[in-house]
Formats: sequence, structure tokens, C-alpha cells
Amino acid sequence: MRAVTWQGKGRMSVEDVPDPRVREPDDIVIRVTSTGLCGSDLHLYDPLAPFMEPGDIVGHEPIGIVEEAGPAVTSLRRGDRVVVPFNVSCGRCWMCAQGLHSQCETTQNIEQGTGASLFGYSKLYGQVPGAQAEYLRVPFADTLPIRVPDGPPDDRFVFLSDVLPTAWQAVEYAALRPEDTLLVLGAGPVGDMCARIALMRGIRVFVVDPVTDRLERVSAYGAEVLVTETDADTVTTVLELTRGRGVDAVIDAVGMEAHGSPVAESMAKLVRLLPNRVAQPVMRSAGVDRLAALHLAMHAVRRGGTVSVVGVYGGPMDPMPLMEMFDKQIQLRMGQANVRRWSDDILALLLDPTDHLGVESFATHHLPLEEAPAAYRDFRDKCEGMVKVLFRP
Ligand code: NAD
Ligand code: ZN
Ligand code: ZN
Repeated sequence: MRAVTWQGKGRMSVEDVPDPRVREPDDIVIRVTSTGLCGSDLHLYDPLAPFMEPGDIVGHEPIGIVEEAGPAVTSLRRGDRVVVPFNVSCGRCWMCAQGLHSQCETTQNIEQGTGASLFGYSKLYGQVPGAQAEYLRVPFADTLPIRVPDGPPDDRFVFLSDVLPTAWQAVEYAALRPEDTLLVLGAGPVGDMCARIALMRGIRVFVVDPVTDRLERVSAYGAEVLVTETDADTVTTVLELTRGRGVDAVIDAVGMEAHGSPVAESMAKLVRLLPNRVAQPVMRSAGVDRLAALHLAMHAVRRGGTVSVVGVYGGPMDPMPLMEMFDKQIQLRMGQANVRRWSDDILALLLDPTDHLGVESFATHHLPLEEAPAAYRDFRDKCEGMVKVLFRP
């Protein structure tokens, strides 16, 4: 079959690889009909490159049709349509029973010190081949895949694999009350969907992203976009809009930036200056315009407010501003999405013929798998108009 493979830092390539087979009695193999490109895939390009091996199959956001089912599978059969969550959870262990599927004890990666295995994340998360491929082996077939009805287009359901439950959890973790204000940092696919979900719940939402064409999409759903030159301006604007207190909650839908990007450079400069506390006057005198989104979140949230981190961080560039966090009594919540914890609630919404969240027009690009290498580059470079890409193997 054809599959998108990692070949080196910043290099993806579509290759011929062996077809996956049913290995365990409760496995299925699906024929992938649509499969997403995610901000998390971009981390493999660079910051997480040391964990990758040439030839690793990437991708983790598939919908498809069951091609083959192992002898022990009782709830699915050939021809059924399923979405596969990005994290491999067994649905039966203690963690899964708590709704913490991303910490599944059956597939935990003790050696790497990480939680549940992930599709397409190489040895960092259990070496499970990825889903940007024509076929995918899926374990725990009676508990992991989400069965969806035939009929509506793939775009209606495919985001159940990641973007929807991820954004849903980020909004849940933001602990919003009806009158609260929310600032969403980042208007990539995840931040965009966070804003839509919070708006659907009647929350007043502000959004910041240096890429202005991404802001137009969220503003169409009623978000108030803050166009600012520097992060210090963003903080000033937020304070003006919130009687000087700051927003009740911030969702950081950015995470780490690739080394060498302007944000990463700016951060590195600041980290050298002042490791643990970052104040606006210091930023100004150091000539630093943009901080790591996490730092901006700490500045923009009100005292006692909540920061919900959905962007993925890691590495030496991300010291936590602990003094400020402690001083402001910030409630910090974070973690990988527990897809199966939320998927039934979201599916009910998706089955409503009114497309409340605009999922059917969410993807900006539908591309053949062969165009993946170029799409990775364009998505990283935030090419105009490109927000969410689906490959059609
Ligand atoms: P993305 O990388 O395209 O989105 C990031 C957006 O943040 C971009 O639009 C970028 O312009 C913007 N940005 C960069 N620096 C900023 C700053 N300082 N302030 C405001 N905006 C800034 O892709 P995405 O798919 O939306 O993913 C976003 C993050 O969510 C990634 O880190 C990804 O790994 C993470 N993610 C986490 C989970 C989870 O389970 N927690 C699941 C999916 C994705
Ligand atoms: Zn993803
Ligand atoms: Zn489990």
C-alpha cells in the first residue's frame, strides 16, 4: 500500500510499504477513506525528530471502512464505517474507566515515560504505524473505533478522531461559567474548533493568531479577533476588555513552535534573560515581541482564572513561569484528549442534520495522499487559506 513516511528532519515521503494485517484476535484492518493532517504532525518535522526513524508511517486522524476483522471481534464487521481515535486505548483498564483514555494502562509506554500509545508517533508513543496510509491496523476493535452511520460525507465524522474531542476537552477544562470570557490562543484547526464550541455554548470568545487569514474563519462564527503587533499589546487589549482583570480562562491551542521560528527565537532570547518570571516591561526593554503562547496565557488570564493547555509542549525551550503561576493562583489544566470520554456526546451533536459546528466545511483542502509532502510544508508555513487538510487515500 501507499503511506506517508518520515524520512528525516522536515522530510516526509509517500512510499510503498507492506499492507497491515490482523495480528491479534480483536484487531481490525480498515481501508482509510479520509485522514487528517494535524499540528501534532508538524512537531515530528522538527522538535520531535530525534524520536523518529526513517520509514515510520505518520498520521492519526482516520475514518474508513472495515476491511477485515479478527475472529474475536463481535461489534464490527467488514463494510462497517468507523472513525479511529488518535490514542490507542483499551477501554477496559482502570484509567480508561476513569475517562482518562490518554493514560490507558494497557498501552502505556513506560520506557519513554509517556501515556497511551498513539498512531503515527513512532517509538515515542508505542511504535504504532500511522493513519496517513491506504490501510490501518486498529487494535481493541470492540472498544476503540467509533462506529458512524453510512450516508453523510467523511467530513461530517472524521474530526471525531482528534480535533473535536481535543477542542471539546480544552473547553471543558477551561471550566467556563455562562458569563465568562475566554481567550483562545491560536486559530489553527484546534483553536478554531475550541472557539466554535465555546461560542455554541454562549461564551464571549476572543482569539489571537499572528496569521490573520485564519482569524477570518473564527470571526464568522462570532469570535472577537484581537489583531495586535506584540504580545504586550495583546495583554493591554485583554485588560481593557475585561475591566482590568484579564479573561476568566485562556485556551493555549498553540504549543511548541519549531526551532528557528520567530516565536522560538524570541523565547530563547527571553529565557536567557530571565528564566522564571516574564513581565511586560522586561519584554519591551529586551525588544521581545512574542512569547511562548503559554506565557502569554499566564499574562492574559485573570487572577484565579483557568489556563487550559491543549497545545503540545516539550523540550528545553519551555520553562514554566512558576512564580507567576503560583502568585496568581492559576488553575492549570492540560493533557492529551481522552477521545472516548467525549465522543458519544459529540457524536450526538454530529448526528443532528444541522451542522452546528460547521464540520462539513471545516477542511480547507482535500488532497490525494501523493501530495502529502508538499502539504506538510505548506501547512507548516501557514500558506494562505490552508487551515485543515484531509488526505483521500
Ligand atoms: P497549528 O500548528 O496550525 O496551529 C497553531 C496556530 O497557533 C497557528 O495558526 C499559529 O499561527 C498560531 N500561533 C503561533 N504562535 C502563536 C502565539 N504566540 N499566539 C497565538 N497564536 C500563535 O495546528 P493545530 O492542528 O491547530 O494544533 C495546535 C496545537 O494543538 C499543536 O501543538 C498540536 O500538537 C496540539 N494538539 C493537541 C492535542 C491534544 O490531544 N492535546 C490534539 C491535537 C493537537
Ligand atoms: Zn491530530
Ligand atoms: Zn485502557
